Amino acid sequence: MTSRNYLGGGKCIVYLIIPCYNEEAVLPETSGIFLEKILTLVKNGKISDESRILFVNDGSKDKTWEIIKNLSSSDRHFIGISQSRNRGHQNAVLAGLMEAKDKCDVAISVDCDGQDDINAVDEMIEKYTAGAEIVYGVRSARKTDTFFKRTTAEGFYKVLRWMGAETVYNHADYRLVSSRVLKEFANFKEVNLFLRGLFPLVGFKSAIVYYERHERIAGESHYPLNKMLGLAWNGITSLSVKPLHLIIGLGLLVSALSFVAVIWSVVMQLLGKTVAGWASTTSIIAFLGGVQLLSIGVIGEYVGKIYMEVKHRPRYIISERAGDF
Ligand code: UDP
Ligand code: MG
Repeated sequence: MTSRNYLGGGKCIVYLIIPCYNEEAVLPETSGIFLEKILTLVKNGKISDESRILFVNDGSKDKTWEIIKNLSSSDRHFIGISQSRNRGHQNAVLAGLMEAKDKCDVAISVDCDGQDDINAVDEMIEKYTAGAEIVYGVRSARKTDTFFKRTTAEGFYKVLRWMGAETVYNHADYRLVSSRVLKEFANFKEVNLFLRGLFPLVGFKSAIVYYERHERIAGESHYPLNKMLGLAWNGITSLSVKPLHLIIGLGLLVSALSFVAVIWSVVMQLLGKTVAGWASTTSIIAFLGGVQLLSIGVIGEYVGKIYMEVKHRPRYIISERAGDF
């Protein structure tokens, strides 16, 4: 066992980081589950009573922030920050992690809809006490997902890996990170965030905890297919330049094929067997046009990302706070 120096003296201060976007339907129920978990861990002497449940309101349009404010005045373990507008799940988690960085020993990011089994927290804390600086929550099964969600999600991890973006298979954003990792992570200044690919880059000793992913308690998913595809593309382009290498490969292949075609046409010409040639010429032009546009598009995506990065705009803006900070 590694001995650790805890901020709170004898015991480890845990911050649960919970992003919330339009979650009025689930928050009243799940907040109770989170509180019970923290209180039980405190009672059993596993964590410090200074531990907190930090809700990050991601610019919700419903009563989410009112609910968070009420919770914060009902129990000192609940606190909340509100973003000035909706910035998306990744930025909401980032805002929470940065808020917790200097106040906790470990931060655990967890969805607010009850899908991530909160009981995995016990094992995460055990792995941390045993020396791990990052503990990844990994889904043991996807029984509750539809066939479509399961295949697209699993395909997502495979494509990411193939494209050179190293991630932990079937790990989303349910993870424990130590304050030491958070302090190093604060130096990763990128605007295009893909947290699950960034933490492996921070390094340090890590561990895995398996958990079962439940169904959403109420409300609807905010991750339809187009957002999932967007996240996948962001993951690939943030972590890897493989698409640019693929373009080079494609360019070489097309050039080699064209070279063969040139020889073929010269030979045909010399043999006096010239064809009318309209169909073949147009198809070659169309094909090359397509390949070029696609390649320029991929390069353009990277240029666009560079543009967003060089502006150094803030990744989140906190407009309000609630509770005992
Ligand atoms: N979320 C957020 N901002 C957004 C979308 C989602 O903070 O713009 C939060 C949401 O409240 C939830 C978590 O991110 O706690 C995961 O979202 P959701 O459950 O909708 O996605 P799914 O679990 O279906 O992938
Ligand atoms: Mg969910």
